[in-house]
Amino acid sequence: MRRIAVLLAFILCIQLTIVESTRAEVYKDPATLLYRIETKDPVVFITIDDGKDRPANAEAVLNRLNWPITSFLVPKLVGAHAQWFSNFGRVNDIGSHTTRHIALKGLSYEKQKEQICSGEGRLLGKFGKTVGYFRPPFGLWDQNTLKAAAACGISHVFLWRVSLNGRTITTWGGNIRAGDIIIIHYVGSLAQSLRRLERELKRLNLTPARLSDYVK
Ligand SMILES: [Zn+2]
Repeated sequence: MRRIAVLLAFILCIQLTIVESTRAEVYKDPATLLYRIETKDPVVFITIDDGKDRPANAEAVLNRLNWPITSFLVPKLVGAHAQWFSNFGRVNDIGSHTTRHIALKGLSYEKQKEQICSGEGRLLGKFGKTVGYFRPPFGLWDQNTLKAAAACGISHVFLWRVSLNGRTITTWGGNIRAGDIIIIHYVGSLAQSLRRLERELKRLNLTPARLSDYVK
C-alpha cells in the first residue's frame, strides 16, 4: 500500500513538473523583432551572415576600418574556424542563423524551435558564448519564430533595412540613415562591399556602432 502511495506521489510530481514547464514556455514573451534601431546618433549597424567564405582581403579592409560587427552564422560553415570569425572586426558579436539555413516561416513551433535552439547551441559550443541574437534565413519568419527564439534564450530577432551585394547597395526606401541595420554576407565580394560602404557612410556622415550597445 505504501509503495502505491509513493508511486502515485511520484506520478503526480511528474505531471506537475510537465504542467509547470509547459506553462513557463507558453507565458514566456516572444523575442523582439527589429528592422532598425531608433536612435538620433549618427550610427549604423553592420551585420554579416552565413560564413561561407573567409576572404583575406576583407580581413585586411576591416582591420583598417576597425568597425564593430555582428555576425549571424551557420555552424557547419564556421567549421573549425571560430577563431577567424572572432578576430574579424574590432569586435564581432556572434548571433545564430539556424543549423540548416532553412526558411522557417510556416513551419510548426516545434520544428522552428529545433532549428533555432540547435543553431544557437552549436555556436555556443564553438565560440563559448553568443550575443543571444537571431536572424531567420532569407528574412522569412512568423509569430512561431519569435516564440521559438525566446524559448531558445534569444532576446532579439534582427532583420535589416539595407543590403549590400558586391558594390550594389539596396535600401528599403531612401538613403542609408541613422539606426539602419545593414546586411552583407561572408562571400568573395565582402571586401568590395566594405569599401563601397566606407565611401557611402563617409558621404552621409554615419559611423558603424556596436549593435549590442544600442539594444536594451
Ligand atoms: Zn543566411
